[in-house]
Amino acid sequence: MTQKIGFKTIGCKVNQYETGALRQLFIRNGYKTVGLDEIADIYLINTCAVTREAERKSKQMIRKAARLNPMSTIIATGCAVQSNLIDIKECNNVSLIAGNYYKENIFNIIKKLSPVEEKPQIFISSADKITNYIENKCFSSSNRIRRLVKIQDGCNQFCSYCIIPYLRGRARSRSVEQVLSEIEDLDGKGYKEVVLLGINLGSYGSDLNNSKINLVNLISEIVRVSNIDRIRLSSIELPYVDKELIDAFHCYPELCHHLHIPLQSGDNRILSLMNRKYTSEQYNRTVDSLKEQMPDIALTTDIIVGFPGEDETAFQNTLNMVRKIGFSKVHVFPYSERRFNLASFLSDTVEEKVIKERSKQLIDLSKQLTREYIGKNLGKERDVLIESLGKENELSFASGLTDNYVKVFLYNTSYEKGQVVKVKIVQTNGSYAVGEPAS
Ligand code: SF4
Repeated sequence: MTQKIGFKTIGCKVNQYETGALRQLFIRNGYKTVGLDEIADIYLINTCAVTREAERKSKQMIRKAARLNPMSTIIATGCAVQSNLIDIKECNNVSLIAGNYYKENIFNIIKKLSPVEEKPQIFISSADKITNYIENKCFSSSNRIRRLVKIQDGCNQFCSYCIIPYLRGRARSRSVEQVLSEIEDLDGKGYKEVVLLGINLGSYGSDLNNSKINLVNLISEIVRVSNIDRIRLSSIELPYVDKELIDAFHCYPELCHHLHIPLQSGDNRILSLMNRKYTSEQYNRTVDSLKEQMPDIALTTDIIVGFPGEDETAFQNTLNMVRKIGFSKVHVFPYSERRFNLASFLSDTVEEKVIKERSKQLIDLSKQLTREYIGKNLGKERDVLIESLGKENELSFASGLTDNYVKVFLYNTSYEKGQVVKVKIVQTNGSYAVGEPAS
């Protein structure tokens, strides 16, 4: 009988990519995939530990799977497994715990698991031991329009609040050949947009034995071998947004005018405590260069609120900087202490209720800035990649994203998913725009 498997991913796009690759592997071997709300024979939970909340959700998903089918085989993998093995072991019914190093081997391990073996079987090795990029056995699956392509893993930066380098290991780049092979595969299948992913994307190439390989060279190779319409970069650290990368936007029109550059704080004292590798002045200068070349660029960011030592002045510095830059979206992360990270040794912690209040202020500001950014697109013509079709009050609509990350709805049209349509923005509201076909 066909075995059913349900997947759940918590956390970043890299995790999503890795789950997608595992899903393809199971499908290729005759399994049927089902949602996590359905009864399955196997559940695979790809966990996250970047915040306390992510870890809590990871454990919650494991317990949910156990409740749905207590007889199922439950697999827990990913960063929470690396960071908090004791708690994961205590979740009921887990059959297999596989750390990041073993994630790609889960299929082989599960085939060899005998029902009488003591549960859970544990396969974990220290992230320090992961020295090479681990190639997935299958390309990841995603929607038929935009595909995530992982090009890098790990990080050498050791920001004081972050435990990722301890869980995923040091920076490692995927080979150019493997990246291009995946790009050629998706190009042949008609994908329109590719999102390049990494834990520290900008560091791509730094560990390869060829000093000429970096992110920009890779982009030029992708453009050379494929007809892909759009290349989007996922999150990139400020020090890697250099002149070469900014010039690349001019050379390669395929590069989307959207960058997510984590700021984390607008205060130099806090940035230094966070062990970030830039000052607010350097960040502002880079933003100025980007805007000079691309006045329409969408800049999004992450901010940690309530990092130890963040006083009212430091928080106001962050608010002012966020407002001045005019990010189109801010992802707000209330600071949560993590075991192992350096920041957990800092005194001068910020009260929970102050963190909540500051987070709210920043979220409100982000909403206002999103509205303003979308408003600036009024009257402009942009290409929209159609991603979904539907009906609203008997009116058919198509919707999709512009390259600068504005969601646009088109009413009374008969477009198909995957079409790229030139659109004039005729109306904007808080979180999206309405367009008409440009004449
Ligand atoms: S750059 Fe900093 S925040 Fe990002 S993964 Fe590396 S250590 Fe963590």
